Amino acid sequence: MRTVVIVGGGIAGLAIAAELRRRSPSAAVTVLEASPRPGGSIRSTEESGFLYEWGPTGFLDNAPDTLDLARQAGLGHRLLPANAEAARRFVVRGQRLRELPHGPLGFFASSLLSAKGRLRVLREPFVAAKRDGVDESVLSFATRRIGKEAAEVLVDAMVTGIWAGDSRRLSVVSAFPKLVALEREHGSLVRGMLARKKGAGGPAGPSGTLTSFPEGLEELPTAIAASLGDSLRLSARVTGIEHATRPWPSCISGLRPRTRARSSPDSAPSRRGAKPIPSSEFSSPRTSSQAGHP
Ligand SMILES: Cc1cc2nc3c(=O)[nH]c(=O)nc-3n(C[C@H](O)[C@H](O)[C@H](O)COP(=O)(O)OP(=O)(O)OC[C@H]3O[C@@H](n4cnc5c(N)ncnc54)[C@H](O)[C@@H]3O)c2cc1C
Repeated sequence: MRTVVIVGGGIAGLAIAAELRRRSPSAAVTVLEASPRPGGSIRSTEESGFLYEWGPTGFLDNAPDTLDLARQAGLGHRLLPANAEAARRFVVRGQRLRELPHGPLGFFASSLLSAKGRLRVLREPFVAAKRDGVDESVLSFATRRIGKEAAEVLVDAMVTGIWAGDSRRLSVVSAFPKLVALEREHGSLVRGMLARKKGAGGPAGPSGTLTSFPEGLEELPTAIAASLGDSLRLSARVTGIEHATRPWPSCISGLRPRTRARSSPDSAPSRRGAKPIPSSEFSSPRTSSQAGHP
């Protein structure tokens, strides 16, 4: 019987555990989660009748895997698409809430950007494309294409909303590969979007409807966690990983007794010569903030 230990009970660890159990019901799967609650950065709370999302507010329903995950967790009937009437978005600028304009006409009539900033956006189709293939930050990409003001006001807000990350540190190739492809293939984002609209290249940006659950996105990790039962151990911070006497890695949690995981030498040959991961790697685990989150 295969024993698998997953470090971290955020949505990634929980989803892997659920999928492992589905594919290999005989496997002994343990998820070790440092905090007293599952879900990691997905957290929804209710106060005075208002629902607060502390992390992501939903997921796009164009990814079948996410929908499958929700359905397999028994939440198929609770899927809740965002209300189309709530599509208005606001950005705080100059201590005022300003609505994000819809469509090109609305954009040029809006006071969200200065006249100079709006004119700079207009120049986008005429800005030379970068074709050296070298990655850059999202902010650097956006500044080149649409100018500093639009990049700092619009793109930074968009990146914070989607990735909760720092646009100066996020890789544009990883975060927005479709935009990079538009510049590479069409020399300009505007020209590329128009070409895709005409052809069958699909939308340039994210498509699909933002989807959540009546009591917030945390319903998803909570349901998966419940399905895992005792396999999920909360308040169990992993402090190191070391090899046992055999060439199989052992995973040690900060708790006693030690939690062991075996990986067959056949399926994980590269690990045989691997060095133990020192406890210091785990005493200050990579947190969201180190990964570019605010
Ligand atoms: C404000 C905000 C908005 C976001 N908006 C979106 C969005 O709109 N769309 C989108 O797709 N994504 C969004 N994200 C990103 C999304 O939330 C994350 O990508 C996703 O939740 C990460 O899941 P994860 O399981 O990989 O990591 P995490 O959620 O960070 O979970 C990692 C878990 O590992 C645990 N852990 C860490 N170290 C140890 C250890 N040593 N031992 C045991 N356990 C440990 C932690 O306690 C944590 O529970 C947003 C994030 C934030 C913060």
